[in-house]
Amino acid sequence: LVALSGVNKHFGALHVLQDVDLEIARGEVVVLIGPSGSGKSTLCRTINRLETIDSGTITIDGRPLPAEGKELARLRAEVGMVFQSFNLFAHKTVLENVVLAQVKVRKVAKAEAEATARELLERVGVGAQADKYPAQLSGGQQQRVAIARALAMKPKVMLFDEPTSALDPEMVNEVLEVMRSLAAEGMTMVVVTHEMGFARSAANRVLFMADGRIVEENTPDAFFTAPRTDRAKDFLSKIL
Ligand code: ATP
Ligand code: MG
Repeated sequence: LVALSGVNKHFGALHVLQDVDLEIARGEVVVLIGPSGSGKSTLCRTINRLETIDSGTITIDGRPLPAEGKELARLRAEVGMVFQSFNLFAHKTVLENVVLAQVKVRKVAKAEAEATARELLERVGVGAQADKYPAQLSGGQQQRVAIARALAMKPKVMLFDEPTSALDPEMVNEVLEVMRSLAAEGMTMVVVTHEMGFARSAANRVLFMADGRIVEENTPDAFFTAPRTDRAKDFLSKIL
């Protein structure tokens, strides 16, 4: 569904993505881990072209991600993204947050967009908060709204970049639960996270990144019990 081939990206002298090849199948849940600065966020951001690449190709569902224009906007709408900071519109209600892009980008009629929004808010467990403003919600609730907002675009793949890192510990699970159920329903997902419990229970594949390269990939069981590279062993010894 998503394919990266020979992707390179520099920030000035820093070679932040080095010949990255990656194929993600429909319905697959891929967890991306690795040390700070290894390029995890940059990799996610290239997949919906929040970052440009210097060389290589990225295709979504067989179609190359173009540099700009209508086709880019269309493909980008197929890639949902949830960030560490929830990025909700503060001056819009929860419902409006989930309605907005449907109307503006997908040209859905307002009534239909509202019906979809209420259904999605219900599904992530914040249906009762629809008419509140983001600041009136807990962090965990806000992040679930952000997930509903991304789902409202009917994405083919969802990217999660440390979605629980900014949350108080007691709110981490409610967000992971929503992600687990999405995974169980067959959503294709790329998840950057330090939640190794989630990686073990929900991922089909773990990718370990270091210095802009995917240096190891394996099933979660194999990766956590028998990492092959010293970099991965070292990393795991620090976080487990
Ligand atoms: P973390 O675990 O801390 O989130 P990461 O693996 O997500 O790290 P990236 O955010 O992808 O890492 O950053 C990779 C490298 O690129 C880092 O050295 C970072 O400082 C650098 N970098 C990221 N964004 C930019 C930018 N816009 N301009 C310059 N350098 C950048
Ligand atoms: Mg990051």
